[in-house]
This record gives sequence, C-alpha cells and structure tokens, in this order.
Amino acid sequence: MNSLKEEGCGKNRECSECTVRNSVMHTFETGENIYKKEGKLDILTNGRPTPIHFLISTILIKQNNESMVLLIADDITEQKIAEKKVLEASVKAEKAIQQYADIFENVRIGFYIYYLENLDDDRTLRLMAANPAASDITGVPNEVILGKTLDEIFPGLREKDIPQTYAEVVRTGQSKVLEDIYYGDERVLENTFSVKVFPLPNNCVGVAFDNITERKKEQEAMLQAKLTAEDANRTKSEFISNMSHELRTPLTSIIGFSDLLICENFGTLNESQKKYISNVLRSGKHLLKLINDLLDFSKIEAGKMELILEEFAIQDTINEIKETMMPLAMKKEIELNYSINVENPIIVADSVKFKQILYNLVSNAIKFTDQGGSVTMGINTTDEIISVFVKDSGIGISIDYQDKLFNPFYQVDSSNAREYEGTGLGLALVDKFVEMHGGNIWVDSEVGNGSTFTFRIPIAFENKSF
Ligand code: ADP
Repeated sequence: MNSLKEEGCGKNRECSECTVRNSVMHTFETGENIYKKEGKLDILTNGRPTPIHFLISTILIKQNNESMVLLIADDITEQKIAEKKVLEASVKAEKAIQQYADIFENVRIGFYIYYLENLDDDRTLRLMAANPAASDITGVPNEVILGKTLDEIFPGLREKDIPQTYAEVVRTGQSKVLEDIYYGDERVLENTFSVKVFPLPNNCVGVAFDNITERKKEQEAMLQAKLTAEDANRTKSEFISNMSHELRTPLTSIIGFSDLLICENFGTLNESQKKYISNVLRSGKHLLKLINDLLDFSKIEAGKMELILEEFAIQDTINEIKETMMPLAMKKEIELNYSINVENPIIVADSVKFKQILYNLVSNAIKFTDQGGSVTMGINTTDEIISVFVKDSGIGISIDYQDKLFNPFYQVDSSNAREYEGTGLGLALVDKFVEMHGGNIWVDSEVGNGSTFTFRIPIAFENKSF
C-alpha cells in the first residue's frame, strides 16, 4: 500500500474521513503496532443530523515484506454521552461544594454527593464528591470510589432499599433521616450509622452520615445501668417495706407496755425506773416514726403511693395542727400564729398528706427555734393556686445547705452529738407529697434569722395517682 500523507480535507477539522485516513497514514509512517483515534460524524436520523462518536483502531500487519493496516471502528456514542453527563454533574457538584468548601472539608461528619444520571433508575446513582471525613468514617478511600455507582461501592445497601431511598429524595425533593443503618446480614453494632439524605440541585443528593456505634453503645450501657439501678431500687424498697412491717409489730408492744408501766397502773416506780422507762418510750416512738417515714418513702419510690383526693377546708387542718403542736410550742414558750388571706379556703387534695406536710414543717419550725421564739403558718390563695408557708424565728439554714435539705436522710448537723433529734426523712417526704400534688417547695433562710418554707399546689388538683 502506498504511503499516505496526513492532511485535512479543509472542510472540517473533525471530518470523519480525514480522521480515518490520517490514522491509517500515521500507522504506516510510525510503524506503531496499534493506534487509536476518536472521531465524530453526523448521520441523518429522520432527516436530522445526529452525532455518532467512533473509535478508530489501526493495527499494522506485516506479511511477506508487505505492510497492511487493519482498520477497526467502534461506535462509542453511548459511552461518550455517559462520560459527558458525569463530567457535567461533577462540575455542578463541584460548584455546590465550593459554596460550602470549608465546612465540607473540615466537618467531622461524612458527606457523599451522588448524581442520579437517570431519574427513573436508582442504579445510576454515581458518587461525585466525598469529603475527607467520609473516608475516615467508612474506612473506604475516596479516590477508590469516586465516579463509581452506589451499587458498585456498597452493594449490600440495595437489599436495605438505600439506593431506592436516595433516588426518591432526588425525585421528591424531601429529605429523609435513616437511623441505624448497618452493614452485613446481622445487626452489628460496630457498623451502625446515622444518615441524613437531602436533595441538592441538578438531580444530586447529599448524604451526611456519622458512625454512631460509640453513642449507641453508651446509650445501651446507660439503659442497662438504669434498668439495673431500677431493679436494685425496687429490691431495696421491697426490703425496706418488709423490714418495716416486721419491726413495727415488736415496736408497738415496746411502746404500748412502756406506756402502761409509766402510768404506774401496775405499781409505783422509783425515779430511776421512771427515767429509764421514759427513755425506752421516747426511743421507741422515735424508731416508729423513722420506720413509718421509711415505709412511706419506699412506697413513693416504688410508685405505690396513691393520692386520695377530697374537698376540705384548710382552716380545719390548721386548727388540728395547732391543737397537736400547741403542747410542744408551749413547752418552749413559742408563739404559734397563723394568717390566712381569704375566709375559709376550700381545696381539693389528699387531706391526710396535706396535714402531714404541714405537720412536718411546723414540728421542724418548733424544733429548730429556741425558747421564746415564734412560728407562723400562713396561707395565700389565688384563683388556681394555694401557697402555704411556715415561718419561724429559729436558727436558720446556711445557703450552702439549702438545696440539699430535701434529699432523704440529709441533716445540716449529722454528728452523733447533734442537738436536735430527727430522721432526716421529714423534708424528703414533704417534697415528694408536694410533687405528687403537682406543686413545688422551697426555703428562704439566713443563719440566725429564721427560715420560711413555702409550698404551692393547685387549689383543685385532679390527678388521682402518682
Ligand atoms: P429531721 O428529721 O432531721 O428534722 P428533715 O428532713 O425534716 O429531717 O430536715 C432535714 C434537716 O433540715 C434538719 O435536720 C435540719 O438540719 C434542717 N431543717 C429543717 N427544717 C428546719 C428549720 N425550720 N430550721 C432550721 N433547720 C431546719
């Protein structure tokens, strides 16, 4: 075959005939074994020119001192169109990313941007961009997967409908949150992800994801710890409840019989005997109060304490408390007053617990007030709320201790040599009872200047159980 000179026909730089001719000529002249060259030509389809991309491969064959060129032409139009689309999409994705480049590069959440080449085919989701955190989180290097389809990168996701979901986000423009995405057949905590999928312009979809394995493990550990603690608490409450019942029976006889002895119904006692028996009686009563408080407290903690709601006049409760507390107040020459801003207020609450709240506050007020002081119970009402306070002129409480007072067993002076008797459960119970009524309690106090405990509850409480 004659040698051919490379030259154009002058009509068009991309003239297909020239491409073929020049390829053949190139192979002859350079002696290159295989030479490939892409070209383009327009063919008429329905009277309109349609571009066709082709790839010319020229192969030099030598036989009997003769050189021949084998010419192969492939139609690569579809491949070219796909490549063009990918290129366009990557430019668009690049533009979108540039706006948030800083965040995209530095955030610790993984970001993938997929382009849906064909709106009707979720297999055409192609990864166009990925941030550094993405490869840190998945362990899959970005350079290995960029340009690949989602199915090629993570084939296992199809059975979890993930590609379908991403395509749906592109089509509907609605974001989606996918919790607990994981790989493998079984749920493996090591691979748990939280994924947010959101639509981006130009048929792109953004996927922000994070490995939440550690968080999940912590949550599960916390849940486990909570269940164990609840279990332990239940066991403790049951133990306290059982023990209290067992202790109450012998205590009742200790108190009853020492009461009988002290009345001298069975013979007179000398001074020492009287002193010791009254010690037994006082200690017995103290122990009984502690047991009763403990029982109440464990009942509340176990959620077994119920409110029995009824309508009652507060004045009656105040009178009862006054009557009960008067001997104690008189013994210490403490003035016991009350002030109410409306006439005979009526409320709906658990009258027994209401009385117990007031009793605990007033007996504390008397206990922690020195000889000759004063204690005042007061009531203020609005249409919906009743506010009750117990004010004393006693020893007061340092600001450092005020927020701890309502914790069970807390006592400002907890030493063995403390001056005031007590269980440390009174205020904890008061706090729980007030809470059960949908209210709250607080203290205003200054050391040496007395204390005021105030609680507020609704005038007509409706919840029947705690
Ligand atoms: P206790 O049985 O010890 O009185 P409480 O729970 O009723 O238990 O009270 C807890 C602690 O709060 C008391 O030990 C005391 O230190 C302090 N406290 C309670 N009421 C008063 C008050 N009116 N004045 C001063 N301190 C008080």
